[in-house]
Amino acid sequence: MGKIALKNVRKAFGEFVIVPGANLEIDDGEFIVFVGPSGCGKSTLLRLIAGLEDVTSGQILIDGRDVSDAAPSERKLAMVFQSYALYPHMSVRKNIAFPLKMAGLSPDEQESKVQAAAKILNLTSYLDRRPGQLSGGQRQRVAIGRAIVREPTAFLFDEPLSNLDAALRVTMRQEIIELHQNLKTTMIYVTHDQIEAMTMADRIVVLNAGQIEQVGSPIDLYSRPANLFVAGFIGSPRMNFITGHEAASRGAATIGIRPEHLDVVSEGGWDGVVALAEHLGSDTFLRVKTEAAGTLTVRVPGERGLTHGDRVSISPRQHNIYRFSEDGKAMQ
Ligand code: ATP
Repeated sequence: MGKIALKNVRKAFGEFVIVPGANLEIDDGEFIVFVGPSGCGKSTLLRLIAGLEDVTSGQILIDGRDVSDAAPSERKLAMVFQSYALYPHMSVRKNIAFPLKMAGLSPDEQESKVQAAAKILNLTSYLDRRPGQLSGGQRQRVAIGRAIVREPTAFLFDEPLSNLDAALRVTMRQEIIELHQNLKTTMIYVTHDQIEAMTMADRIVVLNAGQIEQVGSPIDLYSRPANLFVAGFIGSPRMNFITGHEAASRGAATIGIRPEHLDVVSEGGWDGVVALAEHLGSDTFLRVKTEAAGTLTVRVPGERGLTHGDRVSISPRQHNIYRFSEDGKAMQ
């Protein structure tokens, strides 16, 4: 089992309140991603669950048991860090076996668990190397291997892919998704990268200044953001926000339209000029300066051939316009 619940979890460092009061229920086997901008408290929340920080008040339950005051070792959770935290002088085998040795398992038991983990992670031929002789991706797999052999109730990942280059991040992301599919163990994954969140999570928890803004599946958050913050954070490039007359005419303080829900039409839309065209091949992102709706990001197919200085007219797809009230909440 690997059910984790937070009940009114509050964390303050002295007078600084980092997490004012978090409530969350994570189901056994879920892949949960904590996402939010730098400094929003994602790592702090993860460290509270791991027991690396003490809660100021509130409770953390694992499978119904209150572990708020339990030492990290009593929580049966395994944490994987961005920095890998491997022992440089030990072989991969010894690094992976380390928690098993500490737990007093016999050398034979250690070896069979190390072999099983190495097989899952494609590390079998690297077991006699030292971390310094491995690539960044391989090192991260060793760190994950060390977590796997402990057979934890849940895995906690703190920005594990941040030190890897873009291509390797994509590969490792897929490997972690596959690992979750194989092990079916609860995973909580912290990232500031909304693409990682969207592609990996069963449910995403969006954090802002220590508050949980919204919890939902990636498609839920994309199609039904609860407020301006979530609407602006989920989706790349970011949603366009328009205030003033265009919003007021739709009964809102702000309207939001994603770049993929704006079309370049021959006439009748918001007239403007292309200020910038970013050609990605498959798509082009246009920055269009309009009188009526301000500067808009518009996604068009790459072959449209629009470029800097072109005069265009921009039309929103009516059923993809989000409306927000004065307090930033999404309106129905
Ligand atoms: P990042 O993506 O940059 O790692 P984060 O969302 O993980 O950010 P945290 O590391 O959880 O953010 O930090 C949240 C806030 O808590 C920050 O403003 C940070 O300065 C503060 N903080 C963290 N640890 C301490 C501490 N020991 N004492 C005081 N403030 C702290």
